[in-house]
Amino acid sequence: MFMLRMYIGGQWVEAVSGETRKIVNPANGETIAQAAEGGIADARRAIAEARSAFDEGGWPETPAVERARLLFRLADLLEAEKEEFARLETLDSGKPLREAEGDVHDTIACFRYYAGLATKPHGQTYEVADPMQAIVVREPIGVCGQIVPWNYPLLMAAWKLAPALAAGNTVVFKPSELTPVTAVKLFELIERTGFPAGVANLVLGAGSTVGHELAVSGDVDKIAFTGGTATGRSIMQAAAGNMKKISLELGGKSPNIVFADADFETAVEYAMFAIFAGQGQICAAGSRLLLEESIYERFLARLVERTKRIVVGSGLDEGTEMGPLVSEAHLQKVLSYIELGKEEGATLVCGGERLTDGEYARGYFLQPTIFTDTNPDMRIVREEIFGPVLVVQTFKDEAEAVRLANDTVYGLAGAVFTNNGARAQRVVRKLRAGITWINTFHPTYNEAPWGGYKQSGIGRELGTFGYEAYTEVKQINTNLQVEPLGWYRN
Ligand code: NAD
Repeated sequence: MFMLRMYIGGQWVEAVSGETRKIVNPANGETIAQAAEGGIADARRAIAEARSAFDEGGWPETPAVERARLLFRLADLLEAEKEEFARLETLDSGKPLREAEGDVHDTIACFRYYAGLATKPHGQTYEVADPMQAIVVREPIGVCGQIVPWNYPLLMAAWKLAPALAAGNTVVFKPSELTPVTAVKLFELIERTGFPAGVANLVLGAGSTVGHELAVSGDVDKIAFTGGTATGRSIMQAAAGNMKKISLELGGKSPNIVFADADFETAVEYAMFAIFAGQGQICAAGSRLLLEESIYERFLARLVERTKRIVVGSGLDEGTEMGPLVSEAHLQKVLSYIELGKEEGATLVCGGERLTDGEYARGYFLQPTIFTDTNPDMRIVREEIFGPVLVVQTFKDEAEAVRLANDTVYGLAGAVFTNNGARAQRVVRKLRAGITWINTFHPTYNEAPWGGYKQSGIGRELGTFGYEAYTEVKQINTNLQVEPLGWYRN
């Protein structure tokens, strides 16, 4: 069993209150760690350390090439332990090992991407009317509070830490209270890498205490949050006090549109991957499948047949294709949506039950689930379930497909499957969503921006957009003809 402590000001510390929290393996309910349960006092201490590392510690003035060196070294240390990180991620979050391995790979690449970006040109120069030199420089924002959810514990840490540190900010990072294991291990590597004390701080604990303190504190200059839309709204309100910069990566109810001319087997498999990867606990999950009417019956029959064969099990078991949900509470929430779907009159064509036999008994396993006969007013069609629950809708033509796809308060992602190239382009351009795919679902790259339209968020992470989100923009005008202005006559 691990004892997980917080990393504040370069020291490993227990919570001021002395409280701890049990961390559980969702595949069998066993306690795998005891984590320090930080509170407001711990968050304040970490903010003070980050504040002094930024204001007096010299981190913002550290040459970019040195910040890059540290981030490259961190990536190398992580690579050397990548198998262990993947195993711990599966143990803590439940996701199948092959998914965790992909996450660790992407995490390493993210640190390297931003290490490289730190030393690339970031400013601009302008030709202006007067004998003046006008330039724009980018500077770090200051102390950044960073809060992430439990579905990608390690990868979300990289998306937050890498650009913030590359740009010269100091950070206070808070993982989800459900899945702190790999974040703590990552901070052990941050310590070994040699980042100066106070530059990167880790606080564990609940959102309502630690998270809220990061959002509300007048000593935090920026808050970066990934999580649910309701939480994002409360963070935005808390952040208003000192006009913090905010970036919010929130929920979704993303459409996956399949036209009759799509490659049939490809579209069927991606429809499954879109919703059942990560047990459906992915913000960009393709949770609404929109099928052209003419292929509806054939497509659905094949989809159900293959979905029933998905191998559900512990993420560490060879051959597992879908793991457990993250917690008993979350499983109950997803089950309540399944009950709601039945009450609303949708037809349950696949799954819908908790798995309780034998090896499943102590874990939080759910069958992959599909509803048909839905309508756009149903809550299971409108609300983010964040589990392996697919709702199927049908459309007659392209216009109806686009209308249904956009009939949501969310705007994170969307995909279209068709072999008509012009139509594919037309449809994705009409989707009100920040991440779109043609004939694929889910791939994302460190190089390209990630984020949502509408209530799926504010701002973008990753790519140069993600770096810029951790900078302030300053213009510097230099007079090239230094002489009195002659504005005042006497
Ligand atoms: P959540 O909003 O409950 O919690 C996310 C984080 O916020 C946790 O660390 C939590 O402790 C903290 N938190 C909770 N209340 C807080 C408060 N009042 N103030 C400050 N912090 C608070 O979300 P979750 O259940 O952990 O994750 C699921 C949600 O995350 C889904 O809605 C999903 O769509 C979203 N998500 C979005 C993205 C994206 O990139 N857009 C990625 C992953 C997950």
